[in-house]
Amino acid sequence: MQKILLLGDPVAHSRSPAMHNAALAHLGLAAVYEAVRTPAPELPARVAALRDDAFLGANVTLPHKQAVIPLLDALEDEAAQIGAVNTIYKRPDGALVGANTDAPALLDDLAANGFDPAGARVVVLGASGAARAAAFALANAGVAGLVVANRTPERAEELLADLLLAITGDDGLSPAGELPPPLRALALDDPDLADELAACHLLVNATAVGWQPGDTPLADPPVGPGCLAYDMVYRPTRLLAEAAARGARARDGRGMLVRQGALALARFTGRPAPVDIMWAAAFPE
Ligand code: NAP
Repeated sequence: MQKILLLGDPVAHSRSPAMHNAALAHLGLAAVYEAVRTPAPELPARVAALRDDAFLGANVTLPHKQAVIPLLDALEDEAAQIGAVNTIYKRPDGALVGANTDAPALLDDLAANGFDPAGARVVVLGASGAARAAAFALANAGVAGLVVANRTPERAEELLADLLLAITGDDGLSPAGELPPPLRALALDDPDLADELAACHLLVNATAVGWQPGDTPLADPPVGPGCLAYDMVYRPTRLLAEAAARGARARDGRGMLVRQGALALARFTGRPAPVDIMWAAAFPE
């Protein structure tokens, strides 16, 4: 029986084992997915152990998505751009490859909800790994403007500086010879954020805040009815409730979770992932 691991700390409450094991069983594969609590000092040995044929690969979660990069042999382009890896799979020659499936999963889930980022004005809350994935994915998808708002504004500035470097050449233009979209870094408490929110088509919460009832990174965001409010937290949140009360469409991060898992499973197994089976296993309630 081959194994796929989830490496993180903590991992006890992860929905990934249920989601992946249901998919592996559905595909008739003799493999099992196990969450392994991995304190930081143990990460190098755990990743090295993946080279054994007993392992198909691993998912990587907090706090290791960046620290794992130097332990790998190669990175997919998007993971290299974003600077974060959530999936490790093996090439036929045994090389360990890092991928970031959070970024395409967000785009897939937005598409499943009828949202096309091309030409949209977007506000992303947060500036850590998930926000980086969102910002790079959305910029690559052709947004017309991107605001990154973070409690610590310097981190938002760093994110956008990295993004600008990644999407422009030496001449400051995109590979297609176009100007990059307007990018703006703000603090969460900057008064200018209200105008950006009122004009945006997509608001993404990619901060770590929202899991506890009543917690929110931004009280009562003044979004309009033309906005899709998307919270990466995969349960109902105060942010979504307040956005919906202002007429916005609201979606939580369940679809993103399932789709990042599906994209990872396809890399581990070489088989198309059964998304519906994974959704039902991850969210049976
Ligand atoms: P992370 O590194 O812990 O995120 C930290 C971010 O949250 C930083 O921007 C931080 O701001 C901000 N933050 C923390 N406490 C805050 C507070 N009290 N007020 C305002 N901002 C605060 O986590 P991550 O890996 O980027 O993930 C972010 C969220 O996305 C998590 O909830 C995670 O579960 C979720 N996620 C969901 C999916 C999915 O598939 N649905 C995938 C990936 C991640 P500072 O920079 O100021 O500290």
